[in-house]
Amino acid sequence: MTPHAGGREGHDGLWALHLGSPLGIPVRIHFTFLLVLVWFGFLNWQRGGRPLLGVAFIVLLFTCVLLHELGHAMMARRFGVRTRQIVLYPIGGVASLEGIPSGAAELLIAIAGPLVNVVLAGLLLIVKVVFAIPWPVSPQEMVTSGSLMPLLLVANIALFLFNLVPAFPMDGGRVLRATLSFFMTHEKATGIAALVGQGFAILFGGVGLLKGDFILVFIALFVFLGAGQEAAFERGRAAVSGRLARDAMVTRFDTLAPQDSLGRATELLLATHQQDFPVVDAWGRVAGILGRSALLEGLARLGQSGAVLEVMRREPKVVRPETPLDQVLPLFQGDAGTPVLVADDEGLRGIITLENLGELIEVSRRLREG
Ligand code: ZN
Repeated sequence: MTPHAGGREGHDGLWALHLGSPLGIPVRIHFTFLLVLVWFGFLNWQRGGRPLLGVAFIVLLFTCVLLHELGHAMMARRFGVRTRQIVLYPIGGVASLEGIPSGAAELLIAIAGPLVNVVLAGLLLIVKVVFAIPWPVSPQEMVTSGSLMPLLLVANIALFLFNLVPAFPMDGGRVLRATLSFFMTHEKATGIAALVGQGFAILFGGVGLLKGDFILVFIALFVFLGAGQEAAFERGRAAVSGRLARDAMVTRFDTLAPQDSLGRATELLLATHQQDFPVVDAWGRVAGILGRSALLEGLARLGQSGAVLEVMRREPKVVRPETPLDQVLPLFQGDAGTPVLVADDEGLRGIITLENLGELIEVSRRLREG
């Protein structure tokens, strides 16, 4: 479906099964996808078909979706952007890129996925012509007769067209934004692309409701929310442009040492407003971060005497005080709950949470309007 600038492993880690790492990119499959496989097999059996054919079709279809995502990932690699992982959901795949560049690079990365489907459709068409495979007469026959190839050909054309609908979070939305941003600011281009996307979403939703097609309504909702999120993110980014990490950081906070007990951490949690505690070693270096949920989980497992070291997150998000804030903002995408630490050569300087970043964005916008 679409590449997005994702956070770290995110909250789907538990529910996604690791499949392998083609081209060095971890590919995971969400467990709901397995439910869809069973459901599709059952549907096909109910219609008098062979259940395995239904399953085979879904597996082949998702191989095409995976190749589409790898298309984005390979183009991103050409621009030096790493892909953290690809997750396959029942409604499509998502490639998590480490930041999406703007302009021509965004355009090429967005278009690379749908182009893979064009190539696949072309290859399938050649096979169909060479082996003289007939078109199935009815949709029912497509799954029962075993002529999966023509169905797969149609599916790839559908994937191409669907992804080029100019609506976030579809690839077409990014193509539209990148094209518009050649003529206007990135923020304005995003605003227009998001509006077009929401217009399409309302159209999809209306048609879906009229026809009683709830999958279409579901997709419309997904598109509507995706477009809104993208626009909000971009407004935030424009509001903080020109500002630095040090402008947004909280400078009065408590820290823990790696060898502190969880009992000490609990005392701090109860005595302060803080939810996340930077962990700093004896030399003043940042060693990790301990959040509220990790602390509570650690308490249940190790008790009060357990050490902070055992439950803290060892790879916190760290930036320098002079890092531009619009580069800090993407670090919250997909992982909004964990604050970003600000440190220089002397050691820890501050913490940026989503809340105080949000406040800074509000204040900047009011100042700009006023
Ligand atoms: Zn895509």
